Amino acid sequence: MASHDDDLSGFREEVRQWLEQNCPPSARNVPQNADNSFWGGRNAVHGNEDRKLWFERMAQRGWTVPSWPQRYGGGGLDASQARILAEEMRRIDAVNPLQSLGIMMLGPALLEFGSEEQKLEHLPKIARGEIRWAQGYSEPGAGSDLASLQTRAEDCGDHFLVNGQKIWTTYGHKCDMIFTLVRTDPQAPKHQGISFLLIDMADPGVEARPIRQLSGNENFSETFFTDVRVPKANLVGVINRGWDVAKYLLTFERTTMGSSGSGAQGEGLDQAALRLFGREGLAREPGLRQEIAEVLIGTWSARIAGQRLFDQGKAGAISPFSPSVLKLLATELDTRRTRAMMALGGFDHLDPGGSAAYKWLDAPTNCIAGGSNEIQLNILSKRALGLPEA
Ligand SMILES: Cc1cc2nc3c(=O)[nH]c(=O)nc-3n(C[C@H](O)[C@H](O)[C@H](O)COP(=O)(O)OP(=O)(O)OC[C@H]3O[C@@H](n4cnc5c(N)ncnc54)[C@H](O)[C@@H]3O)c2cc1C
Repeated sequence: MASHDDDLSGFREEVRQWLEQNCPPSARNVPQNADNSFWGGRNAVHGNEDRKLWFERMAQRGWTVPSWPQRYGGGGLDASQARILAEEMRRIDAVNPLQSLGIMMLGPALLEFGSEEQKLEHLPKIARGEIRWAQGYSEPGAGSDLASLQTRAEDCGDHFLVNGQKIWTTYGHKCDMIFTLVRTDPQAPKHQGISFLLIDMADPGVEARPIRQLSGNENFSETFFTDVRVPKANLVGVINRGWDVAKYLLTFERTTMGSSGSGAQGEGLDQAALRLFGREGLAREPGLRQEIAEVLIGTWSARIAGQRLFDQGKAGAISPFSPSVLKLLATELDTRRTRAMMALGGFDHLDPGGSAAYKWLDAPTNCIAGGSNEIQLNILSKRALGLPEA
């Protein structure tokens, strides 16, 4: 009788062959960042024909969301199979065919809290990249203190009437729909009067104004809601219990941020140092060697922590603090790694649009996004260590 391990090695072989035949060479070894990735959506544009083909082939197998159930457009893979697929894609440096907040954040929340109708309506569209989702959590007066949010949704019988403003909506002006936190009971204590609502950004009264950054890029929007009528069917979970959905979703955002890092791609810090200084030159730079060693040890520890999380997941025993720990470690490490990389390359790396410069500027933003690292430290000190609040 074939063992589970035999099944998995057969599966690995099948995946390897399929990727070899279906991943075009031009969809491999491509440095990938938010700007050159495919994000899907109603007005989606593919980088080129090969990338389009690669996306379509992956979507057809459900491998844009390998572990989601097949009836929702997923690949139906178990955790070990999904991991093998990820490893094999990494082995050939295949581009991620579809980046999506729908995949990273909303999908898992809908699988846990959505009704069957909501799952059937939204998950396949996420898997096929038909709808691009935005995250409408932060407001001008509610970032770290998210539960202070003021965007109101008034119960009007068959619909909610939404008024208010969100900010820092990543690519809000390019998105089709937005998952939002809205206040449905202004009298209740702040965590208890919030609901989780899905809003179509094409609806009258929704306006996403791009925010121009110092770099000239427009990666965020301010999103305004003025008398927007939202069907009751778009409420996810129980009314006034949206905080549960919000927190659950954030664990996926933080885990994703904790398991990806710009340093994971391209030339490593140690290789770059050897190339630029040579073995003897590096021997004369104890400070640099120390920094490289610390980043490499940190990377190694983060990988082990990620493996631990994966094993906990398989055993159904994930620590509620793992997402905060992983997010904190990975984003701090990534910032340090990109800073060291820039220091190594010196002026040569200060090339606008170059990938080292981009990563260096981009990495610290992840210490703020998804709940700042100071807030993760607060969560850990209060809830994991039981320390008194400052
Ligand atoms: C790259 C990026 C993408 C983002 N994308 C989105 C998105 O798509 N949708 C969305 O809704 N939001 C998004 N955000 C917003 C993000 O969630 C907030 O910026 C974040 O939660 C911090 O809130 P704030 O900016 O209001 O800062 P504040 O809450 O005003 O915090 C300012 C500073 O004070 C510190 N601080 C605040 N309170 C405490 C405390 N109690 N203890 C210790 N330190 C504290 C913070 O750590 C921070 O350093 C994004 C942010 C970034 C950087």
